[in-house]
Amino acid sequence: MRGTYDGNGGPGSGAQENGAQESGEQGSGAADAAGAWGRRRLLRGAGALAAGAVVAAAPGAPTAAPRSRGAAYDGPVDGLVDGPVDGPGGAAVFRAGRFEVVALLDAHGTFPMSREEAFPDAGATAWADARRVDPRAFGPGGAWELDFRCFAVRRPGGRVVLVDSGVGPADSPAASWAPVPGRLHERLAAAGIEPADVDTVVLSHLHEDHYGWSVTPDGEPAFPRARYVVQAAELAALAPDDAATTYAVAPLRAAGRLHAVDGGTRLVAHRGGDAVTLVPTPGHTPGHQSVVVDGGHRRIVIAGDVVVHAVQLVDPAVRYFFEEDPDLARRTRRLLLERAEERRAVLATAHLNRPFVRLC
Ligand SMILES: [Zn+2]
Repeated sequence: MRGTYDGNGGPGSGAQENGAQESGEQGSGAADAAGAWGRRRLLRGAGALAAGAVVAAAPGAPTAAPRSRGAAYDGPVDGLVDGPVDGPGGAAVFRAGRFEVVALLDAHGTFPMSREEAFPDAGATAWADARRVDPRAFGPGGAWELDFRCFAVRRPGGRVVLVDSGVGPADSPAASWAPVPGRLHERLAAAGIEPADVDTVVLSHLHEDHYGWSVTPDGEPAFPRARYVVQAAELAALAPDDAATTYAVAPLRAAGRLHAVDGGTRLVAHRGGDAVTLVPTPGHTPGHQSVVVDGGHRRIVIAGDVVVHAVQLVDPAVRYFFEEDPDLARRTRRLLLERAEERRAVLATAHLNRPFVRLC
C-alpha cells in the first residue's frame, strides 16, 4: 500500500512524516501523529491499520470481527441526521470544538453510469435502505444523482484547511464526465473565506473531481499561501499520462507547493487535544486519505470517497465500480464506519446529497 515516493520535483515535495505539520498553531509542538495514533491502532493489515486509526477506539477495546451494518439499519436509519444548515450563505456548518467545518457544494449532477452499473453487487434491501437515507440520489430510470462537495475546516483566527478542490472550471479534466464548471469560489466567498485564508489544501486523492480548482488557468496555485498535501502512495501510483499529473501535480510541484506525506499526519494540534489529522484510507485509490477533525466532544470525519453513495453507508460491503482495490476499499469502509459509530463521529461526505451524516 505504501509506495515510496522519490521526492523528485523540488522543494517541499519530499515525503516525511510531519511534512504537513502546522507550525503556527498554539501548542502544536511536534505532535507525532504516527505515535499518537499508533498507540490506538487495534488491527493489522494496511486497510485495517488505516481505517482503525481514523476513528480509533480506546486501547483495549474489543477487536471484534466486522459486523454487517444491514441489520443495524433496520430502524436506526431514522437516526441518521443532517447537520445544521446555519452558516453564511446558506452553507451547512458543523462545529467541533474550536473548529468549524463548512460544507462547500461545488456541483451537483447525474453520474454518467446508472446506479446498478456503478454498484453492481448491491442488493434490493441495501437499495431500499439507501433510498431512505439519501432519497435525492435516486433519479429517474436508474440515474444516480450526486453532489460534488469540498469542505473547509476553519480555525480560530480564520485560517482554513480546505479538503479537496472540486470539479474545477469548464475546461478541467473532470469535464469529460462531471458537471462543470463548479462553483467552489462562490461557495468560499459566501462563507467569508478568501483564497489567501487557506493555508493547507488536502487532496483526498487524485481523481478529477477532487483537484479541479487547485490551480489557476495559468497553472499557478489557486490558493496562493497554501501547501497542497497528498499521500506519497497516491503520487507513486499516478501514471505519467494521468491528467492529474499535468493539470495539478506538475505545476504544484514546480511551484514548491506539493507536500507528500506518508501515513497518518497531524495537520493542526491545539492544547487540550483538539486536532486535525490526516489518516490513510486506501482502496478507492492507493493513497486515498481522510481527515479527522477532533474537537474534543465532537469528532467529524471528512471521508472523501470511502463512501460515495448511501448504498455503501447502509452496506459497506457494496463495491463501487471505480474502486481500484475493491477488497481493500471494503475493509477500509467497514472499519471507518464502525469506528465512527463507536465514537459517535459525524461523517462528512463528498458525494451524498447531504453533507453531514451522524451514525447513531
Ligand atoms: Zn469523487
